[in-house]
Amino acid sequence: MSLISSNLQAVQHEIATVARSTSCRADEITLLAVSKTFGVEQVLLAADAGQRAFGENYLQEALEKIALVRQLRPELMLEWHFIGPIQSNKTRPIAESFDWVHSVERLKIAQRLSEQRPASMPALNVCLQVNISGEASKSGVAAAEVVELARAVALLPRLKLRGLMAIPEPSTDPVVQRAAFHRVQLLMAQCHAAGLDMDTLSMGMSADMDAAIAEGATIVRVGTAIFGARTYAK
Ligand SMILES: *Cc1c(COP(=O)(O)O)cnc(C)c1O
Repeated sequence: MSLISSNLQAVQHEIATVARSTSCRADEITLLAVSKTFGVEQVLLAADAGQRAFGENYLQEALEKIALVRQLRPELMLEWHFIGPIQSNKTRPIAESFDWVHSVERLKIAQRLSEQRPASMPALNVCLQVNISGEASKSGVAAAEVVELARAVALLPRLKLRGLMAIPEPSTDPVVQRAAFHRVQLLMAQCHAAGLDMDTLSMGMSADMDAAIAEGATIVRVGTAIFGARTYAK
């Protein structure tokens, strides 16, 4: 068994354990394997261990990886999620190559993704990235503007608004971690109260996954705990 395969088992076990102890349903939590900086070889090891959903941050790296995986193993029906910052001149390849985008924070980006999503593909699943830590973070839509943005994105024909995504300011204190994820859950409740049909909370990474699950995460985005530490040198 590969290290990646045993890491995946350990993370799945952790999800099930935390879900049980917080009366969430483990089968309603999707593990997104964040493969940024790792190669096709590692993606295939994870895929052969049963992993289906992969998350990528850097567009060029992701496009090369997706193309190579499709070429080498066309039978694998992997799901690709874009989770990194989006430049407005790079929306087309995202709309053409991904199944999900978690990092939508402006209407203009959403409009471009909708216009550029090929008619031959299903609607692109999107989450709005929320700035949950206020001034400590530059990315994400401000909490006060989430419902308004969600209403506008929900009307775009080639997108399917699925939910909210957040990356809180890092903390090692589980109480602080939960408080941040709880704010995301409250924003989701506001969206539901506004009549929006959304089913996804994308929150929690290797270091704060347990807190996120306890606050209702339905997608956890995990890199390090599956693939090991990243080195960015290129
Ligand atoms: C890198 C990254 C992750 C995974 O982080 P780990 O700490 O390696 O689990 C999750 N979400 C986003 C948006 C990331 O950029």
